[in-house]
Amino acid sequence: PPTEETFTYQAEVDRLMDIIVNSLYSNREVFLRELVSNASDALDKARFLSVTDPSVLAGREELEIRISADKDKGTLTIEDSGIGMTREQLLSNLGTIARSGTRKFMEAMASKGDSNLIGQFGVGFYSAFLVADRVRVQSRSPEEPRQWVWEAVAGSHQYTLKEDTVADLVRGTRITLHLKEDAAEMADPVRITRLIKQYSQFIAFPIKVYSPKKEPRKVVDPEGTRRKQEAADKKAAEKGEPSSPVEPVMKTEYEEVWDWRLENENKPIWTRSPKDVSETAYNDFFKATFGEFLDPLAHVHFNVEGTFEFSAILYLPGMAPFEQQNMMQRSKSIKLYVKRVFISDEFDEDLMPRYLSFVKGVVDSSDLPLNVSREILQESRIVRVIRKQLVRRSIEMMEELAAKEGGEDYKTFWEAFGRNIKYGVVEDTENREKLSKLLRFHSSQSEENPTSLDEYISRMKPKQKSIYYMAADSVQAARAAPFVEALVARGIEVLYLTEPIDEACVTNLAKYGDKDTPYDLVDVSKEGVTLDEEGEEEKAAAEAAAKDMQPVVEFLKKALGERVEKVTVSTRLLDSPCALVTSKFGWSANMERIMRSQAM
Ligand code: ADP
Ligand code: MG
Repeated sequence: PPTEETFTYQAEVDRLMDIIVNSLYSNREVFLRELVSNASDALDKARFLSVTDPSVLAGREELEIRISADKDKGTLTIEDSGIGMTREQLLSNLGTIARSGTRKFMEAMASKGDSNLIGQFGVGFYSAFLVADRVRVQSRSPEEPRQWVWEAVAGSHQYTLKEDTVADLVRGTRITLHLKEDAAEMADPVRITRLIKQYSQFIAFPIKVYSPKKEPRKVVDPEGTRRKQEAADKKAAEKGEPSSPVEPVMKTEYEEVWDWRLENENKPIWTRSPKDVSETAYNDFFKATFGEFLDPLAHVHFNVEGTFEFSAILYLPGMAPFEQQNMMQRSKSIKLYVKRVFISDEFDEDLMPRYLSFVKGVVDSSDLPLNVSREILQESRIVRVIRKQLVRRSIEMMEELAAKEGGEDYKTFWEAFGRNIKYGVVEDTENREKLSKLLRFHSSQSEENPTSLDEYISRMKPKQKSIYYMAADSVQAARAAPFVEALVARGIEVLYLTEPIDEACVTNLAKYGDKDTPYDLVDVSKEGVTLDEEGEEEKAAAEAAAKDMQPVVEFLKKALGERVEKVTVSTRLLDSPCALVTSKFGWSANMERIMRSQAM
């Protein structure tokens, strides 16, 4: 008999299992979603490899998932005809935490301890121990002509591995869960079917559940036939005729028939016509595909036809990803398919500009080769077409959200992803104008709810020719700045730029408004700001004041010497006696502060 080897889990796996079992107890059903999603990943890999090497599928062509339960034994079995695992892969995949998703989950749990977070991470294979006290994994990979069996008992810190003499798998993996006593109800095909419909309806491979169904069958009704015969006999006797046998009476009987029954649609949602897909289906697809637990704020589903053909569904998520430290991080947010075969979710950099990395979605093209690589993508003309379309549709989706009644959703969107749009204004010159309409800033007249530049313009004073802004590290600081006071006193609105990216955004934009007569965006803290509102009288008064103050100016120049470039008399202040301003072409004080903080 093959020798059995015993291994000890990485300490972290032990810890992860503790966390999973303790925090997910009331949500144990997720184990099925996790195991089905692993099966689906393994099937994706098999299909992908078979494109270049059809022998991968030899002996078993169907790519599918089969689930069966045995009430008497208290087991549940999930089998897939995916890529399977070699001995090495079993050891490295099911005994360690190699994947970054789990690691992030562990860190998040350590810092927040919030089990709701789990929905965002997907806890993976180990969730099997939520319902099982013993898990058996049999697997066979086309890379190795041997079947292996991996087995672990919950809470034992160990697992065993040996060659599986049953050797009944052509390819793929069979996971058998020996259900805990209090999870025995999972060994019920009705329950399983319900869970599949709830969590796994968008899996692109057939999911078949072995289940009973009452099937109608016509059978002879002996009682009815006897009564009919009696009646016929009686009638015959009355007439004095010999009786003859009647036609048997039939009835419908229901018989329980067990069979493998298909329980999911397995037709990719993006290949359906948008009018046949419900809002709920789009939302569920989003949550299932990207492991999100909030509904998206918006989606767009489109087919591009012509020289190149592709279809896509894009989503604006309902919240910023938990683990996102900076927006430049790649997020596997665009899944690329070629002719419905999943290719990769690591090409999002080629398919979307960085600032739109928060937009999630799927893209399916029939014009790319199935063995597409990053090199091919980067050279490809169709990728440029796709990318352009994805950007365009993403922006349109945001424009629509901004135009939506009430504005609540756009507010949520802006809080989560506004910073990305500002980066977009800086980076994407081609779409700068469209993106600038999406911008929102706090202002002296709208301190609570950030305002759009169009709203700002609608409130401008009749002679006002510039859009004024003040950059500072908070609304309070901006409001308290001496430069702001004179403008606000005259009823001129000042935008408060409070995020580090804001100034770069506004400086790159430079002008906003009507194409022919746009308004300059003017930093009120810089030299040379003239108030367009000033009338002749005010100008004369200012000149007179400047003359009066000449001795003070001379004195200050002497006193401050090298430390200032110049000293001038200004009309910009109201209550404050003086203010330090930056020269027109220098960095603003706020920018200097930011640069200093970044240099550290
Ligand atoms: P993830 O799916 O996020 O990688 P899991 O904990 O769910 O993490 O699974 C760990 C790894 O185990 C997978 O990455 C995969 O390599 C392997 N694995 C799990 N289930 C299967 C399966 N049914 N077929 C092949 N490999 C599998
Ligand atoms: Mg998984």
